[in-house]
Amino acid sequence: MSETNPIWFDPTLCLIGGKWVPAQSGETLPLVNPSDGSAICQIARGGAADIDAAVQAAQAAMDGDWGRMTALERGRIITRIGQLVLDYADRLAVLEAMDVGKPLTQARADAIALARYCEFYGGAADKVHGQTIPFMEGYTVYTLREPHGVTGHIVPWNYPMQIIGRSVGAALTMGNAAVLKPAEEACLTALAFAHIAMEAGLPAGALNVVPGIGAEAGAALTAHPGIHHISFTGSVPTGILVQTAAAKNVVPVTLELGGKSPQLVFDDADLDAALPFLVNAGCQNAGQTCSASSRILVQRGVYDEVKRRMAEAYAAITVGPAMEDLRMGPLISARQKEIVSGFLAKGADLTIAAQGEVVGHAPAEGAYLCPTLFADVPGDHALARDEIFGPVQVLIPFDTEEEAVQIANSTDYGLVASIWSRDGSRQMRLAKKLHAGQVFINNYGAAGGVELPFGGVGKSGHGREKGFEALYGFSQLKTVAAYHG
Ligand code: NDP
Repeated sequence: MSETNPIWFDPTLCLIGGKWVPAQSGETLPLVNPSDGSAICQIARGGAADIDAAVQAAQAAMDGDWGRMTALERGRIITRIGQLVLDYADRLAVLEAMDVGKPLTQARADAIALARYCEFYGGAADKVHGQTIPFMEGYTVYTLREPHGVTGHIVPWNYPMQIIGRSVGAALTMGNAAVLKPAEEACLTALAFAHIAMEAGLPAGALNVVPGIGAEAGAALTAHPGIHHISFTGSVPTGILVQTAAAKNVVPVTLELGGKSPQLVFDDADLDAALPFLVNAGCQNAGQTCSASSRILVQRGVYDEVKRRMAEAYAAITVGPAMEDLRMGPLISARQKEIVSGFLAKGADLTIAAQGEVVGHAPAEGAYLCPTLFADVPGDHALARDEIFGPVQVLIPFDTEEEAVQIANSTDYGLVASIWSRDGSRQMRLAKKLHAGQVFINNYGAAGGVELPFGGVGKSGHGREKGFEALYGFSQLKTVAAYHG
């Protein structure tokens, strides 16, 4: 690599059993910079044979030094990885900006979040306790939390670092050995993370990384009989394929499949506090966020004011190359731009309240799209029900609390929701009524907080990652009942 090349490692290799090796087929895939359509580098096109080698290497790690480590020792290594991630944060941010099109500030925030996951989980490693259970006379009964074994991790392109932190970080902490298949469109920070983990002293085989195409490497991973748990983040159709493959091996899965997350703004809301959250939760990462708040439900008394103020905020959004660190970068790819443009076409019958602006000098080959705010959208319109995964938000007016809940709960998804109101009783009432895995009151987290359990209901998926729940999810409970008379 040249001195000016921000990629400090060979990106064409897979990490298997502590060694960096090419895909057995020798084939590679191009990685494209969505800011200008240029080729960044080649990555390995891993396939079934590489996945098989990675699973075997992971199993060998489980049977070897890694499997024998104490929780304290594992925790120290994970914590050390977090410290190194902080040292590398600026370089990781550049990689993510190039690869995903994320403005530098957002990319750096993801690197810091990855470090936080490692710090949180590293510190928690020796604090996951079993229980003693009162039982019949003459017995002592207790539970042990044990690793599943070899865990498979399929990570999408929108938040590679954060999703690796929350799933791989937790799995390693509990003593599993991981095989990671990053997204073919964004895998530089996954490879960089693996280099950092090795530098921090993670034993060979504890983490294996096989880049490749979903239908090849991904499908081989989910079908492999040596995998004992699968964590998947991505689309609903692919999640169904993953769960089906896992069912054939009777293996547990965690699915995080996106959403159509609403924010409910009531007449008594503090609008000054709400406004930045309303807009940012839809525009962060160009709306390509599983927990993006793509629906803003507003009570009639403040509807016009919210519409006006959100429109002003939208008009001020500038979109351009990730390295220029504007408010918004390009979408991940021309393909994603096409998907989102298709949704915009479905909104031809709607009123556009405001759009942001793509800077004039943005390269024509970049995947740029103006962020768009639609107003007065009926709750049953396609744009109000389907996940768009782009910088598009809809404003939906409502009259009563009951109506707001009915609209909020009317999609197939249930990931995140928020309530903006000063009425404490309403806050508590709605926190229970809203179909969502996370409910925020007078704030919006977009899955924020490594400490906070996260996951969905309905088609948003099942299982929880983040917080201590992830550590429970990446382990299995063994009950020991000892009869001693
Ligand atoms: P996918 O769900 O297809 O991809 C997510 C991950 O799954 C990628 O690593 C992908 O590999 C892998 N994958 C693809 N097919 C298989 C398979 N048969 N078996 C195992 N793994 C597989 O999403 P896309 O990238 O195609 O994006 C399409 C839509 O999905 C978006 O518009 C958005 O709506 C949604 N999405 C949701 C995300 C979320 O955070 N919930 C994240 C990303 C997308 P690869 O891409 O490398 O080939």
